[in-house]
Amino acid sequence: MSARLLDGTAVATAIRDELRPRIAAFTARAGRPPGLGIVLVGDDPASQVYVRNKIKSGREVGFSVDLQTLPASATLDDVLGEVRRLNASDRHDGILVQSPLPPALGDAAERIVFDTIDPAKDVDGFSPVNVGYLVQKRARLMACTPAGIIELLDRAGLAISGRHAVVIGRSDIVGKPMALLLLHRDATVTVCHSRTRDLPGVAAQADILVAAIGRAGFVTRAFVKPGATVIDVGMNRVDDAATAARLFTPGSPRRATFEKTGSVLVGDVHPEVAEVAGALTPVPGGVGPLTIAMLMRNTLRAAEDRLAP
Ligand code: NAP
Repeated sequence: MSARLLDGTAVATAIRDELRPRIAAFTARAGRPPGLGIVLVGDDPASQVYVRNKIKSGREVGFSVDLQTLPASATLDDVLGEVRRLNASDRHDGILVQSPLPPALGDAAERIVFDTIDPAKDVDGFSPVNVGYLVQKRARLMACTPAGIIELLDRAGLAISGRHAVVIGRSDIVGKPMALLLLHRDATVTVCHSRTRDLPGVAAQADILVAAIGRAGFVTRAFVKPGATVIDVGMNRVDDAATAARLFTPGSPRRATFEKTGSVLVGDVHPEVAEVAGALTPVPGGVGPLTIAMLMRNTLRAAEDRLAP
């Protein structure tokens, strides 16, 4: 059996196309496009790529997108100053502070920043107010990656209600909101983490398995019930030959990419899972594009809500 590949790029394109008429209507009514303010602190190369993609995607759908960069030496007060400036700005409907912040800002920095962002402009859905709304099943702005996964399942015609969903990972940005969204859609949800006993055995009970761990190819065929839907959230850059050899057979296209470029982007799910799963998201081209599409949707929602009388 070979799993049906769930094309996140195509779904993200469809979502963006659906947003366009609403963006045009907002722009006509407000006399300005929806505005997104992005703050990038430091010079993490992966964050720079993510931010570039968000700016490109935002401008392409018709938003006004501003980027404020701060050096790695910036203080927490500098970052909070930017957030407060954007909170007070009339023309910014959404605020995004790219995560992770430089470690030098301290362990609590992200929490303090997300506490400071105006919840009405919190297009990442990370502020405690929006997390609270999510718990109560009345969120307007919710975490983008889990929201995108629900869209993908719906648009692929994969039922959620009554299914057993197993989420591996309990982070605030993926695992926990994912579990809540699946619960709100009447799945029976199990959340796993690094202390879970017999993880493969628990995962293999899933009809829908979400892997949000951050370890290349961690989920092998032993974790997957035949026919299950497997959602691979992980984005891991592999640049060592031993891992590439464990994941990709000689002669396969991904192995060839690795041999040519010295690195390859892989998910948390081992490629062998495609032989067992019923449906599977590829990496790249699965969950990643949906995260950005949901950021666009959240920004438009925030703009519309601010304009509403
Ligand atoms: P995170 O904050 O590091 O959380 C990882 C979770 O995995 C934790 O809950 C951890 O358990 C669990 N875990 C780690 N090792 C494990 C093990 N051996 N067995 C079972 N559970 C284990 O990561 P994250 O921010 O949620 O991101 C997860 C992955 O998704 C990363 O690869 C990230 O790059 C990717 N990501 C992708 C997108 C996208 O748009 N595609 C968006 C966000 C994140 P404990 O809590 O017990 O430590």
